[in-house]
Amino acid sequence: MQNGDHHLEPLRFKGDTVGGTLGQTFFETFHTMLELKTAIRAKILEERRRLSAQARREKSEIILDTLLAWTPFSAASTIATYIPLKTEVDVSRLLERAGQAHRFVAPRTLPDFQMSFHELTQDTPLLKGSGNVMQPPDYALERPIEDIDLFLVPLAACDSQGNRLGFGKGYYDRALTSALGFKLGIGFGCQWVEAVPVDHYDVALDGFLSEEGLLCF
Ligand code: ADP
Ligand code: MG
Repeated sequence: MQNGDHHLEPLRFKGDTVGGTLGQTFFETFHTMLELKTAIRAKILEERRRLSAQARREKSEIILDTLLAWTPFSAASTIATYIPLKTEVDVSRLLERAGQAHRFVAPRTLPDFQMSFHELTQDTPLLKGSGNVMQPPDYALERPIEDIDLFLVPLAACDSQGNRLGFGKGYYDRALTSALGFKLGIGFGCQWVEAVPVDHYDVALDGFLSEEGLLCF
């Protein structure tokens, strides 16, 4: 998929993010990748927590509007979504709003921080999985990763190169190694930072969508 495949305004690059949001001394204080990732994750997730419930609702609806108007979304047959935690972008109305044109799947956690993706409809009962994340039941039909055309990927932070900071367990890094579909990070504008530290096993995203717009890398 190329940048030209979508008609929406790209996000403008926030050149002041490192100075404004994190600060040079912030980077100088942390020495290992793990410390740096942990510190950025904590800071950005705290900013996300500070959004009011109403702001989260409004921004989430804008994000869904943008997603539903995006041509590659319409073209995708099988779409991996996620069941949102309280402060995440709320994509729970996606199935209701998208109609019948797509097959949706959502992740189930497996031992050793692996995930499998299972079919999800509006009627699928959700069960509590690892870390209180809700997930489809194990009897929901599993779809191979390679069959998924578009991944909606939750995140703690994303940078202008598509580098993704997750929640610290590496679930999506493992799951997405064999992905063939488009990997679209989903977050609020406050989760967009200039630079995310990258380890060799981190899987980069192909795009980032927030209430500020959609950018393909
Ligand atoms: P997150 O991406 O959730 O922010 P990290 O990138 O810090 O978290 O990864 C968390 C852990 O997962 C790391 O200790 C890393 O060794 C492990 N990990 C990530 N990807 C893989 C992989 N493909 N295979 C094995 N371990 C992995
Ligand atoms: Mg990672």
